[in-house]
Amino acid sequence: MEGKGGLIVTIDGPAGAGKSTAARMLAKRLGYRYLDTGATYRVVALKAIEGKVDPEDDEALRGLCRELRIEFSGERVLCNGEDVTDRIREQEVGMAASLISQRRAVREAMVELQRRLAAGGGVVAEGRDTGTVVFPQAEVKFYLDASLSERARRRFRELRKKGKEVDFTEVLEELSRRDRQDSEREIAPLKRAPGALYIDSTHLSPEEVVERMLQEVERRRA
Ligand code: C5P
Repeated sequence: MEGKGGLIVTIDGPAGAGKSTAARMLAKRLGYRYLDTGATYRVVALKAIEGKVDPEDDEALRGLCRELRIEFSGERVLCNGEDVTDRIREQEVGMAASLISQRRAVREAMVELQRRLAAGGGVVAEGRDTGTVVFPQAEVKFYLDASLSERARRRFRELRKKGKEVDFTEVLEELSRRDRQDSEREIAPLKRAPGALYIDSTHLSPEEVVERMLQEVERRRA
């Protein structure tokens, strides 16, 4: 059933599968909001690094999450009013986010925040557990995948474009480590939600991925 504000659409999958690009484009085509759940974990990770918070100390992490006001303003991510959009994309922060997102204290706080941000519907949410844990009631769910080497190539190109000196093998190893961490963790591991449409983007352009998604949204709406 489509609520007044629109549907909730979820896209889960491993790092580098093209979720952000697809979610952004799909949200635009549908006139929906885009919710990047990974960014919320990245902000907590950045602040934990800066504040030297022990990533194994649940009480400290709970306290940290309480202090953070995470907001999205167009394409920008704000934390307590400060623009952290570029800093949360650092590789070091991505790895720390993958570690810290295993902690129950952090997950509870972020899931609550993500549900608040999606209130009213009309949202395309993207992450690792959006279809399984955050929005199990979502009307349309996708699992977006691609081969490890293709995902590494995309990430490598993206980092080079930003002027970062990176080594391809290192990027591939980091992705593979993060995949393992995200899929093997106890709480909210990355997996395909029941009813999620599986899309392999290895040989598809972002436009082709979004066309498939739009067809599915239309099918579910009919
Ligand atoms: O998607 P992105 O690479 O920005 O996410 C960073 C990290 O945050 C992931 O490696 C994953 O560990 C964590 N994450 C999560 N649940 C989500 C989204 C991201 O655990 N829904």
